Amino acid sequence: MSAMRAMVVREQGGDFVLEQREIPQPGLGEVLVRVHACGVCHSDVFAKEGYPGVSWPVVPGHEIAGEIAALGEHVHGWSVGQRVGVGWFGGNCGYCEWCRRGRLIDCQNMGIPGVTMDGGYADYVVVRASALAMMPDDLSPEEAGPLLCAGITTFNALRTSGAPGGGRVAVLGVGGLGHLGVQFARHLGFETVAIARGTEKETLARQLGAHHYIDSTAGDPAAELQALGGADLILSTVTSSEAMAAVFGGLRPDGKLLIVGASMDPLPIPAAMLIGGDKVIEGHASGTAIDSEDTLRFSAMTGVRPMIETVPLERAGEAFERMMSGQARFRMVLTTGA
Ligand SMILES: [Zn+2]
Ligand SMILES: [Zn+2]
Repeated sequence: MSAMRAMVVREQGGDFVLEQREIPQPGLGEVLVRVHACGVCHSDVFAKEGYPGVSWPVVPGHEIAGEIAALGEHVHGWSVGQRVGVGWFGGNCGYCEWCRRGRLIDCQNMGIPGVTMDGGYADYVVVRASALAMMPDDLSPEEAGPLLCAGITTFNALRTSGAPGGGRVAVLGVGGLGHLGVQFARHLGFETVAIARGTEKETLARQLGAHHYIDSTAGDPAAELQALGGADLILSTVTSSEAMAAVFGGLRPDGKLLIVGASMDPLPIPAAMLIGGDKVIEGHASGTAIDSEDTLRFSAMTGVRPMIETVPLERAGEAFERMMSGQARFRMVLTTGA
């Protein structure tokens, strides 16, 4: 067997087209991964619409869970048959300034599966060995997929945020990122506040571990946070700058608004509001392969799991539309049947 299926975006703005392709061979420092499942992420839109470093045709997908099928030359520490995951971090160069400073996620030559190289919407994918995360045995590939982007993003943001153990953490938004953020916040030992629009998600948020729930449409969410004593950290998973501004006043002194959901709109927060209590607004970009590995291990250990809907690989277009329309509860995952 040398042929495989791949869902390909052939040109900018194009649909996902099923192609039969030769199974690629891993080169120097690379491995061939047999894909078992691949999550569908909002950032897959970059494969369709464009991003620095993308060229068409391209196979999208950066929430890849599978096992190593073959090793290229000069790959050390990995073996065929090992269960592995690959996320947005597609390996680093090792020679640029930020690699040399140990900030691998800021590598100037970082690969991104599904963007700068073919990704996981396929039966097989070739990735750099430096992109691999070990996947625990008791985590299914379907559940591991979303943990490799939505999961690592929220977990890594929370654990490196500087919020004190036992501190009060508000997660803004209970969607693809937020439903994981709430679980991680709870299991990392924070008093956890979920904030979303309406009352529809309250029961779920509490089931996921939230100690408190704030309906941001019912009143002033910042005042409600202050009534709880104020938040040490607000993890923003939404894409509305207005929603971020509406909760900012709920921070305690030394509090931080940590942004993982991307908005292109300016943040309407008066600069003066940062001064009293030394408030901070900060961004956070997912993490590297070892951060992915920590995310998978922590999730396996604590029972943190994404809520997923699975569809076969060939129905990638349908899964993508469902995700983009906000109907997915909460992450779509493609399965190869392997
Ligand atoms: Zn993603
Ligand atoms: Zn580099």
